Amino acid sequence: MRRTIWLFLLTATLLLGSMVEQKRWPQGETLLGFLSKNGIPAKLYYGLDREEKELASEIRAGSPYIVLKDANGTIEHLLVPISEELQIHIYKDGKYKFRLDPIHYQKIEDAFSLAMEHSPYVDILRATDGNKKLANEFVSAFKHSVDFSHSIRKGDKLAIIYSQKLRLGEPFGMPTIQAAMVEAGGRRYYIFNYHDRYYDEKGKELESFFLKRPVRNARITSRFTRRRWHPILHRYRAHLGVDFGARRGTPVVAAGDGRVLFAGRKGGYGKVVIIYHGQGYKTLYAHLSKFRRSIRAGKRVRQGQVIGYVGSTGLSTGPHLHFGLYKKGRAINPLSIVKITKSRLSGKKLKEFKQLVKRYKKELEDLAKKPKAPNKVEFVKSLVEYKGGEDGKS
Ligand SMILES: [Zn+2]
Repeated sequence: MRRTIWLFLLTATLLLGSMVEQKRWPQGETLLGFLSKNGIPAKLYYGLDREEKELASEIRAGSPYIVLKDANGTIEHLLVPISEELQIHIYKDGKYKFRLDPIHYQKIEDAFSLAMEHSPYVDILRATDGNKKLANEFVSAFKHSVDFSHSIRKGDKLAIIYSQKLRLGEPFGMPTIQAAMVEAGGRRYYIFNYHDRYYDEKGKELESFFLKRPVRNARITSRFTRRRWHPILHRYRAHLGVDFGARRGTPVVAAGDGRVLFAGRKGGYGKVVIIYHGQGYKTLYAHLSKFRRSIRAGKRVRQGQVIGYVGSTGLSTGPHLHFGLYKKGRAINPLSIVKITKSRLSGKKLKEFKQLVKRYKKELEDLAKKPKAPNKVEFVKSLVEYKGGEDGKS
């Protein structure tokens, strides 16, 4: 059945290409709102379980979604990404159905080096035909070790080893810099990515973002998973945060210093506070029973300050806090950061890290010997995404 749908989509696309549209998700739009505007019964949304409703609240403004309509303009398929791994797939099979499908993407790994003409940002843009995300990532990764505005001289070198996801032939999601080097003022500076955080060559962390547990005396009732296949339900699931079971009314505190971006209702998340902490980090606190009185968008908060109280808004089950952490828009496991208490790697982790440094440092130094342009790969725009099978491997 599943395969039939994919093949149908592929065939329909090839024969009737004009009926497939890729658009950007509008600011402030909810899945429920979108369904009602497009003639899809609201009971589809109300019939979702709580995990699915939470995931529907993860749709981001500007996210590229795909609609396939029949000759009468009725939606046959709707594909909306909720993370870099999964997308909501609503499709007509008699009546409308909902499920989560893996996003099929290509991952390219590449490396390049150059002698600087202007600044790292401008030179990376030029070398990569305008990959702003990569240029930004590079600059922010070195922010704490090099002052680009003063110490760079013309002819200084930089080298980057990175990977980028491509969906339908276009960059999708954030690029990952595995390692990079920059020469400045006669010195070479390195950064190495280890479990999504940047370190210098000695294993000292270059960011300083630490989290506090947002509720006290709570137990974890559901952990973070980006994508898993549920063998019994026979469908994909994900949980883009950590749930803490706690009594209604238990104070919820800000996990770090920051500024409130949003305090209000957000679909299946119910009453939500979102805080921006700088360096691309955001935290989300969902299902609150109420906000603390002074908490509203724009308000500065300190780590440990009460922002609201545990509840079960947006859900029908018991009170708990859903706690989400995002780095540059990508959901990451909050527990992976809560656990880090030192800013320097040690023990087994340091040993593992040193191996990684050895390998990448050699690669970067070889790369920097003479300028090497990024690989130019011609990506044919195609809907190969839809050839995917049950296992979701791309
Ligand atoms: Zn949750």
